[in-house]
Amino acid sequence: MSGPSRLVVLAGPTAVGKGTVAAAVRAEHPEVWISVSATTRAPRPGEVDGVHYHFVDDAAFDRLVADGQMLEWAVVHGTHRYGTPRGPVEEALAAGRPAMLEIDLQGARQVRATMPEALFVFLAPPSWDELVRRLVGRGTETAEERERRLATARLELAAEPEFDTTIVNHEVRAAAAELVALFGLPAADATRRD
Ligand code: 5GP
Repeated sequence: MSGPSRLVVLAGPTAVGKGTVAAAVRAEHPEVWISVSATTRAPRPGEVDGVHYHFVDDAAFDRLVADGQMLEWAVVHGTHRYGTPRGPVEEALAAGRPAMLEIDLQGARQVRATMPEALFVFLAPPSWDELVRRLVGRGTETAEERERRLATARLELAAEPEFDTTIVNHEVRAAAAELVALFGLPAADATRRD
């Protein structure tokens, strides 16, 4: 790699912990800007509009796409649409902020086509069994939804060689530290306990 990256695209199968790792990066490095996606799925308990996602209806999503405001978008797990609003990404990069997108494989492929200078990072589970355990443990999906997500996860795991680098998510803080290093940011104080 030529040097630290300004735009990191983090992808990986469902329930691998992308959101948790991204949050851990932000906790130590608030200067890292993380894109807030738009989605047509309903909020889960505790999710806040504009913070976790921009929750929009189908008509609003259609408009964003038609107006060219999506950097990428995809139907994920065969159900809802998710996409990255283009403007905020361009603003963050123009301001020189390290920026991160946490998106699915289809979205990562689209960004690869338009922004090949980004660094594409695959977040992998320690094992298939562990991935299943995390998905079931999360308890936010119905059995049918879980099956659909696991089917997508098998396909996504097979795409790992397309990525520039892989981080195995054994433990959140260690995975976050690896991501931080890819940005060329200083490591967090290892003596901190909070
Ligand atoms: P969840 O419904 O669990 O929040 O997210 C489901 C999947 O959608 C995850 O794999 C996540 O990476 C993906 N996702 C979230 N935001 C975006 C986005 O803006 N674009 C794409 N292509 N995928 C997204």
